[in-house]
Amino acid sequence: MGWSREFIEKVRESTDLTDVARDYGDTKNAGPGKIKMNCPLPNHSEKTPSHYVQKEFFKCFGCGEGGDIFKFIQLLENCDFNESVQRLAGRAGLSPGPEDWIGGSAGEDKRKDLFVAIEMASEIYINRLLDMDNKDAQKARSFLRERGITGAMCQTYGIGYSFPKTKGLTDGLIASLKQPLTKYFKESGTKEVDIPKKIESTLKRAGLASEYQDKTTDFFFSERIMFTIFDSTNRPIAFSGRQLPGGKDPKYRNSPETEIYKKNEILYGLNWAKKHIAKEDRIIICEGQLDVIALLESSLPVAVGPCGTAMTENHVKKLTGYTKNFVLSFDSDAAGQNAAEKFSQWEEKHNLQIKAATLSSGDDPGDYLAQSKLDDLVQQLEKADPFLRWRINRIIHLGKVETIEERVLVANSALQIVKDHHEAMYHDDYVRYIGEKLDLPYTGLRQKFDETSKTPQQKAFQGNQLPPQNRKPPSPIVENQRKAESKETKISTTLGNRVLAVLLHNRQTLEQGEILPNKLKAIFFPTKAQGNVFEALLNSQNVDQAIEQVDQSSEEAQILQELRNSKPNESLTAEIVSKQVGELLIRRIKNELDLLHQEAKATNNLELITGIGDEKTAIKTMEDDGYDLFSSEADFLIEWLHERLEK
Ligand SMILES: [Zn+2]
Repeated sequence: MGWSREFIEKVRESTDLTDVARDYGDTKNAGPGKIKMNCPLPNHSEKTPSHYVQKEFFKCFGCGEGGDIFKFIQLLENCDFNESVQRLAGRAGLSPGPEDWIGGSAGEDKRKDLFVAIEMASEIYINRLLDMDNKDAQKARSFLRERGITGAMCQTYGIGYSFPKTKGLTDGLIASLKQPLTKYFKESGTKEVDIPKKIESTLKRAGLASEYQDKTTDFFFSERIMFTIFDSTNRPIAFSGRQLPGGKDPKYRNSPETEIYKKNEILYGLNWAKKHIAKEDRIIICEGQLDVIALLESSLPVAVGPCGTAMTENHVKKLTGYTKNFVLSFDSDAAGQNAAEKFSQWEEKHNLQIKAATLSSGDDPGDYLAQSKLDDLVQQLEKADPFLRWRINRIIHLGKVETIEERVLVANSALQIVKDHHEAMYHDDYVRYIGEKLDLPYTGLRQKFDETSKTPQQKAFQGNQLPPQNRKPPSPIVENQRKAESKETKISTTLGNRVLAVLLHNRQTLEQGEILPNKLKAIFFPTKAQGNVFEALLNSQNVDQAIEQVDQSSEEAQILQELRNSKPNESLTAEIVSKQVGELLIRRIKNELDLLHQEAKATNNLELITGIGDEKTAIKTMEDDGYDLFSSEADFLIEWLHERLEK
């Protein structure tokens, strides 16, 4: 099973490896028909070129690797022989016919439909954005222009604009894809009668359309700026849609996972950055697409970022194949800083050399593109701090440091970070550093440092595994703030009422969807009264029975009276309700985390917030995945909420 001998030879003849090698780094002439370069292979890095390439072969005198064009691609793209043939064929513009593949699985063929569909969709989105006659996209165009993104850049990076929801089936993405996809399937030998079905299944498998009330729709991405996501070999595989100002949350919405889009493997920007990474021997990791693009436009075009999920260890492993020198440039808000902090768990394990940048005045890399200050951005990244120093500075920055008592408290947290760092050679210098920063005497700090013991290894968040609990009970300050009203809590309260109405009128839906009894609890609700109403309804056959259970002059009674007047919603599905409950949960958790932040500041107990990175990651994943109540993240967060409220 594999490519025919003839086809393999055809690919070999049509390929010049010296040409291919130029994609992976700078090359120099080394005689007729021969070039040399710094070894681009993942396991070897060098400063003077000893990797030689000719039309058909390569040989590295540094690491000893050598072979033909297919071996080269297999090593660099971490793929098997058949895939290496296919990639080089694509590069040479050869398209295999059915006779070129002998026997066995047509797996790759099926995936090909998805690449094709995504590429077509990408072109449609780009054209919609760049077509000046399309008034629809006016807002998106000015948004991008203000951020320094030109039309040419939209072409380069595959940036477009999606359809408004109102266009729906008649004139949206699905309608626009019908003609080109029909043509494509006809040409690839699909029977005419099968084509409509084939199109529908391809759109669903590619994450471009989904089922909504028995119809195939593309509502998921309505009115968003669409960033095409490519795999590391430049094949379009998915989209990330960014809201316009005033648009619907969340800020970024990503394609669902598909056969070709695995969120914990894909890094946005790697397809463009990789050839520069070899030369620079470092990678800049940032958060949003616009940040990555800003850097790709700078003189340091080595930026990547996760998309659709927070950075995972899997991403880190993938990047270490290119270099172990990471520069972190994350947003200056708490979420961004926590995301950066997370790298400390991978530093020793993967032998990383990490630096972290703090950009001036809380800007994100993207802001520098908007202000045409990319040189300034590069300068700041060049001055990035070693990771340990950055973490110490952050702790000091977070804490209160006016009195001696406060400074000692902060110093204790900082000393712990140093103690936990695997490189003992750094320890003494950083103890001194903390002393200077906090104006505390070295001898006392050193003694304290020697008495400090290492934090027991914490296990990183993996699925259902729970991190050790070391939280303190909430203080009275927090209890008061818990009662405070805000706009956010109003939204949560409305959502809470909606879920209560579902419990009253559509209880069956909750049970059939297995949301009850385990995935919806009184503690999900933003107010105590709603929680009590939930319990009362749960224990009653109807609203009157529930009213009997509560004090007649209470807030609970009032809520129940209002519920009595609400109408059942017949079109509710378990899926919709489960997302509502998921959102209710996330809002509740976020509210608790805010309180935790306030508490940490008020009591100067920074340990409270240094330990919540996993919760933030889980929240982000749930938000990006449309509040999946049945995910392991949801289980983790429910458990966390229980623990926190019990104390
Ligand atoms: Zn080598």
